[in-house]
Amino acid sequence: MDAEVIVVGAGPTGLMLAGELALAGVRVRVVERRDSPQRHSRALTLHPRSVEVLDQRGLADAFLVEGKPVPGWHFAGLPTRLDFAALDSRHGYTLFLAQARTERLLTEWVRDLGVPISRGSVVTGVSQDHGGVTVAVGDTELTAKYVVGCDGGRSVVRRAARIEFPGTDETLTGMLGDFAVVDASTLSRAESGGVLAVPLGDGTTRFVVVDPQRMRESSSTPVTLHEFRTSLLRSCGTDFGVAEPRWLSRFGNATRLAMRYRAGRVLLAGDAAHIHFPAAGQGLNAGLQDAVNLGWKLAAAVHGWAPDGLLDTYHDERHPVGAAVTANTEVQTLLLELTLVGQYERPATALRALLDDLLGIDVVNRRIAGAVSALDTRYGTSAEPLIGARMPDIALSSHASVYELLHGGSFLLLTMSGVGPATGEVAGWADRVVLGTASSGSHPALAGVTEVLVRPDGHVAWLSRDDRPVVERTNALMAWAGRQTERTDGRGQI
Ligand SMILES: Cc1cc2nc3c(=O)[nH]c(=O)nc-3n(C[C@H](O)[C@H](O)[C@H](O)COP(=O)(O)OP(=O)(O)OC[C@H]3O[C@@H](n4cnc5c(N)ncnc54)[C@H](O)[C@@H]3O)c2cc1C
Repeated sequence: MDAEVIVVGAGPTGLMLAGELALAGVRVRVVERRDSPQRHSRALTLHPRSVEVLDQRGLADAFLVEGKPVPGWHFAGLPTRLDFAALDSRHGYTLFLAQARTERLLTEWVRDLGVPISRGSVVTGVSQDHGGVTVAVGDTELTAKYVVGCDGGRSVVRRAARIEFPGTDETLTGMLGDFAVVDASTLSRAESGGVLAVPLGDGTTRFVVVDPQRMRESSSTPVTLHEFRTSLLRSCGTDFGVAEPRWLSRFGNATRLAMRYRAGRVLLAGDAAHIHFPAAGQGLNAGLQDAVNLGWKLAAAVHGWAPDGLLDTYHDERHPVGAAVTANTEVQTLLLELTLVGQYERPATALRALLDDLLGIDVVNRRIAGAVSALDTRYGTSAEPLIGARMPDIALSSHASVYELLHGGSFLLLTMSGVGPATGEVAGWADRVVLGTASSGSHPALAGVTEVLVRPDGHVAWLSRDDRPVVERTNALMAWAGRQTERTDGRGQI
């Protein structure tokens, strides 16, 4: 076998997944169509949960050095900002960082972990049988136990696996342009014209415009400099002196969600599984979080310790998130479109004012900020609110924090009672579980909690309020971390 897992696509999702798999000891190979890394950046944002996820792997500092934190974010371009700073996270901001730089930093991580990236390799087909997958790359065939399509919205892997991709075609497009020359003294006029203008940190400025007179143009139609300038002038009364375009592109609101994220040994993640208008900048973020949800589960399947059904929880947990993201982008796009269509302009403006008013109510703002930041993503429906939610990054008695103990990609069994498991009780999972101790007073959500099992992706798998939950804990470990590894020396290993 050429690898245990083949990841198709070295975009942000494929790179994150490859890193997660390598960290878990899986032999992984990335196959990428492009000869060299992408120079242009579609995405510019890393939202709070994505920064947390990077922090869980010890990567956040490298991203923070290059990015710029922005405390408030928008929903549908409404003037009242989403207050990420009010959320329960050390990373309550959006990190402005161009996608090309995110991909470069992830590539460095993946290379350090020894993952081969085959560039200039176009995947043309995938087949599978009970023992593995065969991936056609030009004239050659690669074999592996599993393949993951992280190959974007037009995913070849998705088509080869015959996974349906229902949704709606594009009805509206916007334009983006990155310019080396702008008249900085005019930039304050962008917002009033509904135009986004942001410096990308590489000497260019990104403009994004949705012009009612050009918004029915197909995204496959190339953008000209003249068209872009004319649209800026129409929207803002100035063309901002834009010149020397580095990239002009058109993007649309086609919205689709894969029917299944898994078909046997073929899985999908990122844009291969969900596409939508880039409203509130969520696509790349959702892809990173797909990858972190999938990585440890796929590693468990490869290593043979996955409990029954674990790999299917990837679809069960991430498909609803994909559905929620596509739905909220459709709401945002509809609001934008209504405002731009003459006959609805007045009621649409009134609707926006009403929604903006509602966003001013703390609990409403908190709810939408929790969704867009992805901090409120919760898996399952346990009556215990913390189960399925992300574990807060509390300080531990060892002076480390929860996220530091997750750097290696293991489960974390956290004891708050001061008693903790006896060595022999957890020794069979020592290759998958690390131990930590904290005080139950370290976070309000932990009041009365004696033990917590945190998954490698940072979500809470199980908790107890019992002082000695020996049987409960063993059951939880078996349900999530699988059967115990045989001990050869008959002694505990943790
Ligand atoms: C204008 C615009 C602005 C956006 N802004 C934001 C934002 O601010 N925040 C945000 O979160 N998201 C944003 N997005 C969305 C974001 O860019 C995508 O969600 C993200 O790129 C998805 O990452 P991915 O790795 O899943 O797919 P991609 O980035 O599409 O990567 C897929 C990779 O697979 C490779 N590939 C494709 N086919 C094959 C094949 N057959 N064989 C081998 N390799 C193949 C491609 O070359 C590519 O490298 C924006 C999108 C647009 C259009």
